[in-house]
Amino acid sequence: DLLVVGSANADLVIGVERRPAPGETVLGSDLAVHPGGKGGNQAVAAARLGARTALLARVGDDAHGRLLLDAQRAAGTDTSGVLAGGAPTGVALITVDPSGDNSIVVSPGANARLTPADVRAAAPLVAGARVVSTMLEIPLETVAELVRTLPPEGRLVLNPSPPAPLPAEVLAACDPLVVNEHEARFILGEAAGEAPGEWARGLLALGPRSVVVTLGADGALVAEAGAPEGVRVPSLKVEAVDTTGAGDAFTAALAWRLGLGESLAEAARYAVRVGAAAVTRPGAQASYPTAEEVGAS
Ligand code: ADP
Repeated sequence: DLLVVGSANADLVIGVERRPAPGETVLGSDLAVHPGGKGGNQAVAAARLGARTALLARVGDDAHGRLLLDAQRAAGTDTSGVLAGGAPTGVALITVDPSGDNSIVVSPGANARLTPADVRAAAPLVAGARVVSTMLEIPLETVAELVRTLPPEGRLVLNPSPPAPLPAEVLAACDPLVVNEHEARFILGEAAGEAPGEWARGLLALGPRSVVVTLGADGALVAEAGAPEGVRVPSLKVEAVDTTGAGDAFTAALAWRLGLGESLAEAARYAVRVGAAAVTRPGAQASYPTAEEVGAS
């Protein structure tokens, strides 16, 4: 079973001809409201693949929170760990201009109120999961408490997004740490180097048991303590129409397959196919495939 501990947001999207200058008002398209947030995305991605998936998250006691819960239930997620109240549901205010460039303001709202105490109260849910997947759109102290709550046989997958400095105890628990190029460069700083192999080696030196670097259309690189040179996992050649949420689909699929007992390279081979399917359709959660659509591995 997979437990996703993370963020849930309502994405409020308006198309605009151009962004307003300070003090100015512009008219935009009709409002579109989509369920999002990296935690919500991962849970939907895994549940749609057929994984037994639970979500530990916090939403507001409001209409957006109910929308997000409905989206999880429609995908088949166990939402018994979704807490409601304490602050409004997290929101991303997104304007998109005709060239497709977007400007985003995020209000973390209830995501910022998912506390270490919430994690302790959910200890049975954590103990019941083979793999726990988390990210940094919730407080870092909550992620650190999750690491301490994890039973010895539990496995943690962390996507450090948005990137932030990570304490050693969190890094040491990651198996794997899943980063894209931007996150790899942030964590490694000046010493990053230019090649994915260098990033993987540099990240492993920080203490995680394994590392996965996602490389967009180039697939992924997986590396483990015993084999720091890493293994390249090529992507599928597809026509990408919208890469939003592809990384979340990749990470969710990877975490699920690791829980089934696959090796890191095997799980990544499946995950690149899920990521590739997700970029062929618009939207984040709306673009995620079923196992049937991914095909037999
Ligand atoms: P993020 O979305 O976090 O920036 P990436 O861009 O590395 O992360 O994408 C995550 C995964 O999604 C990749 O490892 C790959 O499997 C898949 N993916 C992303 N873009 C493409 C693409 N253009 N073609 C095929 N697969 C893609």
